[in-house]
Amino acid sequence: MGTSIYDYIIVGAGSAGCVLANRLSANRRNSVLLLEAGPRDDYLWIHIPIGYGKTMFHPVYNWGFYTEPDPGMNGRKIYWPAGRGLGGSSSINGLIFIRGQREDYDAWRDAGNPGWGYRDVFPYFIQSENNQRGASDYHGAGGPLSVSDIAGKHELMEAFIEAAGKLGVPRNHDFNGESQEGVGYFQLTTAKGWRCSTATGYLRDAIKRDNLGIQTLADATKIVFEGTRATGVRYRVPGKELEARAGKSVILCAGALQSPKLLQLSGVGPAPLLAEHGIPVVRELPGVGENLQDHLQLRVLFKCSKPITTNDDLASVWRSAKMGMEWLFRRSGPLAIGINQGGLFTRVLPESKTPDIQFHFATLSAELAGAKPHPWPGFTMSVCQLRPSSRGRVTITSADPLQAPAMQPNYLSTDLDRRTAIASVRFARRIAETAPMRDYVTEEYRPGNAAQSDDEILEFARNYGATIFHPTGTCRMGRDAMSVVDHRLRVRGVEGLRVVDASIMPTLVSGNTNAPVIMIAEKAAAMILEDAAQA
Ligand SMILES: Cc1cc2nc3c(=O)[nH]c(=O)nc-3n(C[C@H](O)[C@H](O)[C@H](O)COP(=O)(O)OP(=O)(O)OC[C@H]3O[C@@H](n4cnc5c(N)ncnc54)[C@H](O)[C@@H]3O)c2cc1C
Repeated sequence: MGTSIYDYIIVGAGSAGCVLANRLSANRRNSVLLLEAGPRDDYLWIHIPIGYGKTMFHPVYNWGFYTEPDPGMNGRKIYWPAGRGLGGSSSINGLIFIRGQREDYDAWRDAGNPGWGYRDVFPYFIQSENNQRGASDYHGAGGPLSVSDIAGKHELMEAFIEAAGKLGVPRNHDFNGESQEGVGYFQLTTAKGWRCSTATGYLRDAIKRDNLGIQTLADATKIVFEGTRATGVRYRVPGKELEARAGKSVILCAGALQSPKLLQLSGVGPAPLLAEHGIPVVRELPGVGENLQDHLQLRVLFKCSKPITTNDDLASVWRSAKMGMEWLFRRSGPLAIGINQGGLFTRVLPESKTPDIQFHFATLSAELAGAKPHPWPGFTMSVCQLRPSSRGRVTITSADPLQAPAMQPNYLSTDLDRRTAIASVRFARRIAETAPMRDYVTEEYRPGNAAQSDDEILEFARNYGATIFHPTGTCRMGRDAMSVVDHRLRVRGVEGLRVVDASIMPTLVSGNTNAPVIMIAEKAAAMILEDAAQA
């Protein structure tokens, strides 16, 4: 087995891993190895936003996980895509740029995590950002992550905004500005019509540094420990088993599904689970894999009265050609948008002090997110609860590192989550019944008029609910016995090991998770460099 030595070994080149690879290798005295299970990101459809539909079920660039049968979903296994390859999920995501609410981060701080309040984390959001609107009180310019406005307006989006306005939801030009509440167009992580994944934003230049090694097609199989100190990583590349040693630290960035898996495989996790699979315990940490949280999306689908939807564009050769031209010459039009044009944040429960649901509005409809569009004009109001209280878990099913872990989301397992699901579908219907939106609706295709009572709406949620792709929380930051990392993201009770990705979130943020994960990695890089300077 060949062995090489680095200061830092980063496992996983996704949203977080690419940020760390860049920031840690910026100091030429640090040697850094970035291990990624998937390939390089040289598939064209990764980079053209509408390619979202091409990567959603891709056998190479997507892990294509399924959850365990979920009782809350009437026993269905839910499809859970996750990016595989440079950029990770930021290479296949819906490109929506949302930071969440300031209260999300203040709650992290108040739960015992100093340094994670909104004021503390805000500079790291700004540092990462290169917003087309330029620098302002709420935005950064010149950072690695490009953020752009959607060029042009869509008749359906305008109708949605106006109808929501009549229901008291104000127009919002910046969901990442003073207030999240409101309705409007999203900003996207794109630059001139191209996707800006973290591989594009953070690795494109860093890749040339000779102190940064990037190894793709490298499945990390185990963290190597000497006593309780992490000293390296064992990994497989096609045909070979290799080991790299880390002089300073190993940093897990394998995402909320695979970072806990790798910890468990390496002997850090719940003792009974490790014993079941014959894995010697390095450090018992019962919280590894627990606290799984996700946003459940309920896709309310409508047939549209006018052939103006993306379904119609894609069904026509001429209109498809026009879309292609729009993208080629103006970098605009449907090809420059992943899927959702705009959104809405509002409150549907009387006890909520801040928005408790988010809408994703798409001028397109399909049976599943990212699947082939319907053969009729259609649009989607996808609604999700922002702060679910249901909790699930991720557990290994064998000691074989190439086996997917079992993922149990436990969607809709609390009264709060069920009440919010029902109220959110009812709110979507109210918008659809309000002028001018109602002029565009010929029929509510799903759930359909037959679903009227709370129980019937809940049954729709159980039969058709799906993920909006935000699994988080499985290596929770905190200071109690069930937390996995401390506020500096060091794995509790061992040395030389950190987790830096979506899994460290104590609670899910109120919005999409890519920008928050990038912020987490920016802050982690600063802490790691600070620790090294003090050592
Ligand atoms: C289909 C989809 C749509 C989404 N849409 C949006 C959106 O519009 N806006 C938004 O803000 N968020 C969105 N998200 C969520 C967001 O992209 C993720 O929360 C975020 O990218 C997670 O970052 P991460 O670094 O934790 O994990 P990832 O980016 O998933 O990175 C983990 C990396 O680790 C690698 N890896 C895993 N195990 C190993 C191993 N053993 N060895 C080596 N490498 C390994 C993986 O291949 C992957 O590259 C979406 C996600 C998906 C999947």
